[in-house]
Amino acid sequence: MRDAPAISYEQLLNWLRFIDEGLIEQRGFLTELDAAIGDGDHGTNLARGAGAASSKVDAEQPEYLDELFKLVGMTLVSSVGGASGPLYGTFFLRLATGVGHRQELTPEQLADGLEAGLGGVVERGKPEPGDKTMYDAMAPAVRAFRAGISSGDVASASRSAADAAAEGRNATADMVARKGRASYLGDRSVGHIDPGAASVALMFEALAAALA
Ligand code: ADP
Ligand code: MG
Repeated sequence: MRDAPAISYEQLLNWLRFIDEGLIEQRGFLTELDAAIGDGDHGTNLARGAGAASSKVDAEQPEYLDELFKLVGMTLVSSVGGASGPLYGTFFLRLATGVGHRQELTPEQLADGLEAGLGGVVERGKPEPGDKTMYDAMAPAVRAFRAGISSGDVASASRSAADAAAEGRNATADMVARKGRASYLGDRSVGHIDPGAASVALMFEALAAALA
């Protein structure tokens, strides 16, 4: 069996760039979603955090992927307020330890990193399936990536991860929020997409674009 081609540092840097661009583009949309069931800061929060992370990365130009993701995670924790800053920050910090001290990754190593990141979100936020949070998009996406690499290449695996995230995002509309600010609304949160699930879908769409 031939080895799968490695995922390069540059591709993963592109992932971060595409997230950044997507957040600038969808800032208004994410903020509208959060205005409906939260406090309307999700898009602004994340766009600011991603901008700060990109500036740090440009300035420090970390050589290894664990350093790159650690820098992103630390910047998100310190520059993004609200629930999503620590959650996304933890995701990237765990992704950093999950992928290890490397400059390129096998598909399996990226899957390990994504699973570690998801584990960090679970530890931090204690979301359960169906609580109407970012977890409901992230968990199916990470699962789809792992399943995808066992049967195909990273391009198709990341495409199915993005599709799973979008499906998970859409499914949050029917859920009653049980975590975070939206949970204060109870049943009135039904009928609205969770903003964090929407930003996760954006993040996996960016990954699919970077690994296409
Ligand atoms: P805040 O709610 O503090 O204003 P944001 O608006 O930036 O923070 O982020 C809200 C998103 O954070 C929600 O849409 C949800 O996806 C996610 N979230 C909130 N609490 C939790 C939690 N305990 N576990 C997982 N995700 C959560
Ligand atoms: Mg908010």
